[in-house]
Amino acid sequence: MAENCNHDCSSCGEACSSRKSESLIKEPHKLSKIRKVIAVVSGKGGVGKSMTSALLACASQKAGYNTAIMDADITGPSIPKMLGIHERAMGSEAGILPVRSDGGMQVMSMNVLLNHEDDPVVWRGSLISGTVLQFWTDVVWTDVDYMFIDMPPGTGDVPLTIFQSVPLDGIVIVTTPQDLVGMIVKKAVNMAGMMNIPILGIVENMSYITCPDCGRKISVFGESQVDAIALEHGITNVVKVPIDRSLTEAADSGKIETFDHNYYEAFFNRIDEQLKNRK
Ligand code: ADP
Repeated sequence: MAENCNHDCSSCGEACSSRKSESLIKEPHKLSKIRKVIAVVSGKGGVGKSMTSALLACASQKAGYNTAIMDADITGPSIPKMLGIHERAMGSEAGILPVRSDGGMQVMSMNVLLNHEDDPVVWRGSLISGTVLQFWTDVVWTDVDYMFIDMPPGTGDVPLTIFQSVPLDGIVIVTTPQDLVGMIVKKAVNMAGMMNIPILGIVENMSYITCPDCGRKISVFGESQVDAIALEHGITNVVKVPIDRSLTEAADSGKIETFDHNYYEAFFNRIDEQLKNRK
């Protein structure tokens, strides 16, 4: 049991013996069917976590799986914009219905609930966590093979709520080379360990640029350390994604689904294999 335990497990991430007897996992909506759930996490904002969530989801959809994205980044939602979604979510008697992307992915995000997509969300943490939980419990997700959750950065209230309340099959960690990568990855690994959630892979985003003249890879932020760090933690699935201006352009213009070079296909296939082998 944690020092200073106040017996309120919802405010604590400690994996102690008293927690084991009490599962905080919440049931999804009774009409939802969701087979696999993967959370995409990062130590801080701006490293490309939403980009990774979107491209991983696209890779999953392309592999023939019914795919969904839950955008849990309530105060900085960017998934709808990347997918060119501007419509609002509809409700039915049964619950809230996710919006569909052009490619058929189901998406729920704060931005499809607001009256105007550029309205800010100025809410306290508890309200934000409650909303994210409702994305799980009150949204009717139809026949989803893979759901990707775009988490807010860090290890605050919302990540903790999701880790405790949603039955995650694993997490994907996103870092950048200058992102104090060792420490950030260690924090994520430790958090996942405390919650008993497997790490399915590490993304080193903005890893390099490719010289447009000679094709040489240039490590803008110094040599990559991600392989050594992954090895240290026994993580075998690693992808290094370059800084690619056409990716930014595709995201900014809402065309990420039709972006023709998805860096994440092999990475997703290795996740799929890991999860199949686990059964
Ligand atoms: P986060 O979710 O971690 O805050 P985003 O996914 O929103 O980060 O990415 C931040 C910005 O960087 C966005 O404008 C996005 O289009 C851009 N970006 C992310 N990854 C890449 C990349 N590999 N190459 C070029 N631009 C990228």
